[in-house]
Amino acid sequence: MPWPTARDDEVFALIDRELERQNTTLQLIASENFTSPAVLRATGSVLTNKYSEGYPGKRYYGGNQVIDEVEEIARRRACQLFGAEHANVQPHSGANANIAVYLALLQAGDTVLGMSLDHGGHLTHGSPVNISGRLYRFVAYGVTKSDERIDYDQLRDAALRERPKMIVAGATAYPRIIDPAPLREIADEVGALLMFDAAHIAGLIAGGAHPNPVPYADVVTFTTHKTLRGPRGGCVLSRAEHAKAIDSAMFPGLQGGPLEHVIAAKAVAFHEALQPEFREYASRIVTNAQALAATLAGEGFRLVSGGTDNHLMLVDLRPFDADCTGKVAQEVLDRAGITLNKNTIPDDPRSPFVTSGVRIGTPAVTTQGMDANEMAEIGALIARALRHRDDDAVLAEVRADVNVLCGKFPPYAAGA
Ligand code: PLP
Repeated sequence: MPWPTARDDEVFALIDRELERQNTTLQLIASENFTSPAVLRATGSVLTNKYSEGYPGKRYYGGNQVIDEVEEIARRRACQLFGAEHANVQPHSGANANIAVYLALLQAGDTVLGMSLDHGGHLTHGSPVNISGRLYRFVAYGVTKSDERIDYDQLRDAALRERPKMIVAGATAYPRIIDPAPLREIADEVGALLMFDAAHIAGLIAGGAHPNPVPYADVVTFTTHKTLRGPRGGCVLSRAEHAKAIDSAMFPGLQGGPLEHVIAAKAVAFHEALQPEFREYASRIVTNAQALAATLAGEGFRLVSGGTDNHLMLVDLRPFDADCTGKVAQEVLDRAGITLNKNTIPDDPRSPFVTSGVRIGTPAVTTQGMDANEMAEIGALIARALRHRDDDAVLAEVRADVNVLCGKFPPYAAGA
């Protein structure tokens, strides 16, 4: 039976439009990046056709000889990149990676310590609207009022009080280094397991810009599509003693057939991250974030915790303009060709749908080859657009400047 000959113009026109959007506007969402053409190619490969429930050497269906090699390479490279004893590369997403770890190592009702959502934690760290918060008794820790950073002494007090079965570290909107060493000490003191969710910072760890939690944590989860610059997906690294429990929790516990085309693309991304240039990339993400943060501070914005030492910054808009909410800023900047997201700041008086802040990240613009000069330009464009947010003519000028800037650093050739 031949393929249908009619081209699906409806969908492919949308893909072309999205390519145009990515090529001509600034992508400052901290959890996004541009994957390489090699990663895109693997993701779009015939590996999508294969069913391979199980693991290399132990599959339910035949015909998995090649697939086994693909998944084995992905596992091996993940272990090599992070120095881990075991890797499970099957999670369809970061959320699935986290839930599979809980399924593997906890019983329903167990107490877990996780970072609170409104201080930068993730939904899967115990939010009541997520399965994590429904199955387990999560107790939240947060950042201090004074310096808006995690206070390891306070975390220790909470651990001594609650005696959790597991401590979950990691965040989705926290601009500082998370130190795995004191976390391990606290976990040992209270007899808890330590899970480090490195979703956002996996690329910074792989590139040597942030401390590696693998030697300290029982389990490290991460997404492959953020700073690590791979396809959308997740991964779990663990000590050998937890390997069997985690593998069975992932499949058949949580997921069905793995996405082997995505696993191949993860392997490609791990290979790219193992190259010496990736270290330069990781450190440039951080210096770019610091340069952008400095420009924004100079424009009158307040940076949560005073700055950043990773790939993102949380910007409190109120000192710049008390009436400019995160929601308004996101919408105005979208019109000016600058894509970022509204975000609560710690103890935000506004709701998560409105917010007093925005989150800004540099992984994608760094992939494009931009450096501190462009960060200064971007910071000035953000301030200009927000200062003149009711003036369509100024927003059009900013949009034109964004277009020129992106034209100098196109992420993809036409037709990618
Ligand atoms: N964990 C953290 C800390 C995250 O920031 C995210 C996503 O933003 C996830 C887990 C979930 O990843 P995914 O969106 O792939 O499910």
